[in-house]
This record gives sequence, structure tokens and C-alpha cells, in this order.
Amino acid sequence: MKRVDRKSESENSIVKIGNSLIGNGELTVVAGPCAVESEMQLYQTACHIKKLGVQILRGGAFKPRTSPYSFKGLGLEGLKILQSVGKETGLSVITEVMNVRDVERVVRYADALQIGSRNMHNFSLLTEVGKSKKPVVLKRGLCATIEEWLCAAEYILLEGNSNVILCERGIRTFETYTRNTMDISAIPAVKNLSHLPIIVDPSHAGGRRELVAPLAKAALAAGADGIMVEVHPNPEEALSDGAQSLDFMEFSRLMEQMSAANVMLKHIG
Ligand code: PEP
Ligand code: MN
Repeated sequence: MKRVDRKSESENSIVKIGNSLIGNGELTVVAGPCAVESEMQLYQTACHIKKLGVQILRGGAFKPRTSPYSFKGLGLEGLKILQSVGKETGLSVITEVMNVRDVERVVRYADALQIGSRNMHNFSLLTEVGKSKKPVVLKRGLCATIEEWLCAAEYILLEGNSNVILCERGIRTFETYTRNTMDISAIPAVKNLSHLPIIVDPSHAGGRRELVAPLAKAALAAGADGIMVEVHPNPEEALSDGAQSLDFMEFSRLMEQMSAANVMLKHIG
């Protein structure tokens, strides 16, 4: 039996990032820009999300980009900004680690590590973050089956790190209107198959900002433990993923909708 299997644990796993518990029955929201672009951009975003009750800030310092000519992140400078904004605002920070060689320094600067979709099959990276014991958000591979995704999580658990949160971020299908196709059925399927918490990233799933709120609400209704959303002070000028990033007003509205939906869902059970 695999360690990720539901039957291997008597209870659902609860993963702690900073002071937040993921998988405890409450909805966790992770928010922030796709990429850390500047201290000002991250600080403004952090203050806004904090005001709305969010406790975990996201932001990439190392960005996996399809074209090597696109903005690939600020690297070490981005990690430093992330850490200092986190400290200043009291938010926990999560950021992507793209290769084995960076694990040690990302661990030093962040409260949680993100394994991106393109790296879900990078078994040496999974093993390395497993050794680190930091909480890991493991995104589903673009073309990965649920079984392959759970096996990737197993690599991390096998090293003794059981602080794994799965993240459904849409899979590649023949549809091109949306950036990816959000696999809503993955949420209840993972809940049946595993004890690990699962969150949903409606930003990368839809790839369009007008789809983020409906997809986030659908994720909540399907039983997700949380969402991770891209937010930017000025999406038009974002250096990456502007089309799917919410501005501050849109994010405030999403938070209102999520709390109303949460109340309704609790009521109907
Ligand atoms: C991201 O979170 O900005 C990102 C690159 O996500 P994914 O790996 O899901 O594409
Ligand atoms: Mn992004």
C-alpha cells in the first residue's frame, strides 16, 4: 500500500503552513502574483490580501516559461523580497522551486515550496523536497493522470515528508478557449483515494480572469480544501500571466463570493 493511500492513514491529513492549517475543514486561500516583480508590487498585494483575511502569499522567484525569452523571475532577489514582505506583513510565503540545485536556498527563504506542473515528473526534485520536510504544494502535471500525480506525491512522502498538499491546476485537453481544462472530478476522486489535502488553482486552469471566480466556487462545491489565486496590483502590466490575474477589486469580490458560497455549502452539507 502506498503512503498516499487513504487507507494508510485513519484521518485526513492536515498540513500546516506558518499558522494556517490546510485540510482542517476550513477553506484556505493562497493569493499573490504569478511572479515577484518588485518589492512594491509584492508589498501592495500582500497588504491587500491580508486585509481580506488571507494568510498565505504566493509569488514566483523562479518562473518556468514556455519561451526562454519571457520574464523568468527575479531569482534570488525575488526570494529576498518574498521573505522580507512575508516578515513585514506576517504572511506565510510560498514559492516555486524548479530544480534540485535551488532547493536549499528556497527552503531558507520560504515557508512552503511549490512544485510546478512541468516538474511533477521530476523525480529527483520530488525526492529532494521530500528530504527538506517543508510543506510542499504539488501541482498536477499538465498531462498527468490522478494515479501519476499521487505517485509523484508518494516520492515526497517516501522521504519522510508528509506535508504535501495536492493542487489541481487544470489539464491539457483539445480545448483551446481555456488555457487548461479544470478537472473538477479530480477533487472528489483524490478525496476518495488519498488522505492528503487538495487545493485548486482556478487561475492557471481557466487562463482568463473572468473564469476565476466561477471555477473557484465550483472547486469549493466539489470539496476542495482551498484555492490558490493569482492577484496583481495592475494585471495589464504583469510580467507574467496578466490575463488570468485578478486586480484588487476583483479579488475582494471573489473573497466575498467565496465566503457566501462557503456558508451556503455548509448549510446544505
Ligand atoms: C504558477 O503557479 O505560476 C505556475 C507556473 O503554475 P503551473 O506550474 O501550474 O503552471
Ligand atoms: Mn502563473
